[in-house]
Amino acid sequence: MVIKINIMNRKHIFEAQEEMSDVNVISETYNQLLEDSVDNLWKWHVKDDWINISMRDQSQLELEIDANDFSLESWKSLIHPHDREDAEKVWAQFILHKREKYENLYRVINKSGAYKWLLSKGRAVKNAGNEIVYIIGYHIDVTEKYILKEELYSLSHYDKLTHLANKDKLKHDFELIIQNLKASSEIAFIQVDIDNFGYISNTLGHEMGYELIKNFAKFLSERYMKTHAIARINEDEFLIIYEFNGGRNELEKELAEVLHQIKNTGFITDNETRISCSIGVSIYGVHGQDFYDLIKKSSTALHSAKKNLKDQYIIYSQQLGTSVYYNMHMINQIRMGLEDEAFEMYYQPIIHLKTGQLTSVEALIRWNHPENGFVSPDNFIPIAENSGQIIQLEKWIFENVFKQIRQWTMSERLNINFSINMSAKGLVTGSIIPFLESMLEKYQVDPSYIEFEVTETAVFNNIEYTLSVLEKLKSLGFRLALDDFGVGYSSLSYLSILPIDKVKLDRKFICNIERSERDFLLVKSIIDTAHNLNLEIVAEGIENTRQVELLNELNCDYIQGYHCGRPQDARLTSLFINSKNNAYDPIVSHKFKKKWRQE
Ligand code: C2E
Ligand code: MG
Ligand code: MG
Repeated sequence: MVIKINIMNRKHIFEAQEEMSDVNVISETYNQLLEDSVDNLWKWHVKDDWINISMRDQSQLELEIDANDFSLESWKSLIHPHDREDAEKVWAQFILHKREKYENLYRVINKSGAYKWLLSKGRAVKNAGNEIVYIIGYHIDVTEKYILKEELYSLSHYDKLTHLANKDKLKHDFELIIQNLKASSEIAFIQVDIDNFGYISNTLGHEMGYELIKNFAKFLSERYMKTHAIARINEDEFLIIYEFNGGRNELEKELAEVLHQIKNTGFITDNETRISCSIGVSIYGVHGQDFYDLIKKSSTALHSAKKNLKDQYIIYSQQLGTSVYYNMHMINQIRMGLEDEAFEMYYQPIIHLKTGQLTSVEALIRWNHPENGFVSPDNFIPIAENSGQIIQLEKWIFENVFKQIRQWTMSERLNINFSINMSAKGLVTGSIIPFLESMLEKYQVDPSYIEFEVTETAVFNNIEYTLSVLEKLKSLGFRLALDDFGVGYSSLSYLSILPIDKVKLDRKFICNIERSERDFLLVKSIIDTAHNLNLEIVAEGIENTRQVELLNELNCDYIQGYHCGRPQDARLTSLFINSKNNAYDPIVSHKFKKKWRQE
């Protein structure tokens, strides 16, 4: 093979013209090139396989060219490995189809090891037999333009924090995966979400939150990147397109394994915090074919996993799909319920343990559904929270209770306090404070009669903002209680930073207190800590006398539960209070039992 390096200039081009007296030289070709008046010229002798590169090309691009060996192969070796295959395809097609105009784009490496983007344009020079003898062309250095383009591409296809693909890029990857899918393989959409991320990030700080996301992304990409596609699709949500061959068994083994690994991996440096994840899965061909449809289904499964125990995977099924319809149906029903006034407030007594006095009642909503009968608030409050209807519902609740307070304190002279639950959404609804101010004004009730119960998760989901709302509620004269303490990520240390007056200990701590010494000691330490922080404590879910006695021993301040009184409507509550509350008895468990036991 003849290998020559020629320094090309106009003289050489004319020489080349002469050299090609035997070919069907289309002088126009040269003229066009010359008209382009570019200096970075090249000429590729197709048959002899040697390339001339103009001097300017070499110096400007700083190419490492060996003058004694410059074939197409040598040129190829300068091309970025990622671009080589595509570049070769363009050449092959050009020659095969005997095209006139040549255009190619790739990166070449220069002397300092950096890559430059080259746009290579040219025209074919053919012989009488229509064979391509030369391709003559020029190079344009488009590096700057392409770096910018790459950055733009990266911005629009990759997540900045984790450098993982985003949803758009994943969709593109999905199409490629489908095109190359082997008959024996299946594809699952695995949607992974970090449990309680908002809470963790709020309590440990946002910097730690970012670190957690980054390390978590690294963990997932190390596990899946090589053989599967992965993207970050939301703040703490990741999607893996997982290819597998061993049927459901293999898939489920992987899901269990990854959940286990996640729990045993530290994602935050110098921190003991361990996280768990929830996973929702849909399978290509079984639950759908379309990218967005499969995401919708893995997302439905994920929400179901989160709603249950978290730290688990759920594979999509038809029933889950129907639960989405159920939710939509419920949203509609709640709207109708609000229009038809199908909701009613019930009240459950809260007893001061040392005195046996009924000091307050907790307002609990009831929905008497025309077809389904009684619907538990646990079943519709979360739906109303998700749909945003809670705001309207809660305004209805607050007004209804304020009206009741007015009636009981003015007409019936009942001297009791009221606890009202405030949802997470209610707490962050900007209009809630002016609304409560207007209610105080309208019903002329003393705010110190009213205590709002908020849950830990509601508070910690957006701690800075909720703290300011809690302070505002306090400054209006309301009292505050932390409800269901122990259900979320309870930490006694957080109690000191909240402007609360009371802690309501969830009934899961109480239900075994008479059987489990561990639970008894746990309750004791929570009560002691609350007292040290000058907080009162209410034990929820009291169902028997033994529990009353033990809580009395532990100096618990208040108790609430079926043993002391079930939630009842306003009329029965008023009768109940009037019949029992006049007699005052110091706490003696059997007397207490007689006094508060609901017959
Ligand atoms: P919560 O605020 O912790 O209310 C106490 C729940 O425990 C009530 O359930 C009550 O009926 C139940 N309970 C009381 N004593 C006992 C007992 O001895 N044993 C057992 N097993 N349960 C007992 P309910 O009324 O079904 O309400 C459930 C949850 O729904 C409430 O938990 C609260 O989070 C929410 N909720 C209820 N009413 C409202 C409301 O008006 N607004 C808001 N935002 N949430 C509400
Ligand atoms: Mg409550
Ligand atoms: Mg509670």
